[in-house]
Amino acid sequence: MPGKKVPLLLITFILYCYIYTPSTYAAEVTPNNRGIIDLRILETTDIHASLVNYDYYQTKVDNRIGLVKTATLIHEARGEVKNSLLFDDGDHLKGNPLGEYLARIRGINKGKTHPVYRAFNYLDYDAIAIGNHEFNYGLKFLNSAIKGAKMPVLNANVFSVKKNKPYFTPYTILKKNVVDQSGNEYTLNIGVIAFMPTQIMKWDKANLEGKVYAKPIVDAAKEFIPIIKAKGADIIIALAHTGISSEPYNPDTENAVYYLTQLPEIDAILAGHSHSVFPGPVFQHLPNTDLEMGIINGKPVVMAGAFGNRLGIIDLKIGKTAGKWKVLQGTSTTRAISNENGKSLVRNDKNLYRIIRPEHQETVDFIRKLGL
Ligand code: MN
Ligand code: MG
Repeated sequence: MPGKKVPLLLITFILYCYIYTPSTYAAEVTPNNRGIIDLRILETTDIHASLVNYDYYQTKVDNRIGLVKTATLIHEARGEVKNSLLFDDGDHLKGNPLGEYLARIRGINKGKTHPVYRAFNYLDYDAIAIGNHEFNYGLKFLNSAIKGAKMPVLNANVFSVKKNKPYFTPYTILKKNVVDQSGNEYTLNIGVIAFMPTQIMKWDKANLEGKVYAKPIVDAAKEFIPIIKAKGADIIIALAHTGISSEPYNPDTENAVYYLTQLPEIDAILAGHSHSVFPGPVFQHLPNTDLEMGIINGKPVVMAGAFGNRLGIIDLKIGKTAGKWKVLQGTSTTRAISNENGKSLVRNDKNLYRIIRPEHQETVDFIRKLGL
């Protein structure tokens, strides 16, 4: 009888709606965490031209340094996950005799790529930051060298005096194809922005005065973040070539990471410049900091030492809430290339060594010729 069937159907429907509340409904259609993305972010920082595990001053192997070692950690860390990105946080061209030899003696021949950028190209970095030491050989050398880098070379707080615009590319939005925990594919828009200390105007006065000026790091972040978001970035990663300190805020603070963690739209911070290790015991008294998780003010932060001695790793868990991708959790850690006694913990990446060997050998020969 139709008169009785309709209410029965209605009751069934109401019951169905009642039982399958949104949360249980969501659980029904998202088995195995569909839509949860694990994204690993890898960092090198303050490489200072330490490509090889070699001490040019003592002319002998030094297994505590060298991107040829960090490279092996990079391959391993990538192999453990489905989704990863690799960044360098700056100060990569200067700091050892190889860097000096290339900039001051041999020079970068026209059309040739600096071995640091050949190494970065081979390792397939997704973007890199410019550090303060990149200015030490002058703007002309830097501009010519970065032409060889195949990935975006970023800085958002150094401005051209003439144009009153960012001197370098301030940010990029990477289209990253990722898979979630169930194997479904997505494309994430990853905003990446970079900063360095304003003190460059003192440290490299002769190279920079009248050509560029530096904006306070946090001001530049506040200027560009709304633009990056408006252009569709799902998350934002800061390549912050600056250290970590909770000293009271001042616009020209050299170590601004703590204050970048307080900007809500920044999801993860790759720190550098001070050659420290975060998470690590040096930061045990930093407020609102969890060294187990590697978070400051709730944000994942990593700083991977210097000279390639460590690889920084941030692991993000990303999910969609109210139609928007959001970082649900972030943790950080670092991995070392050697133990406290300088004993090597990883093999050299032989392919990388082969790529940079010519300039390494030239530097060693040059030092020998000088009789040093
Ligand atoms: Mn440095
Ligand atoms: Mg620095």
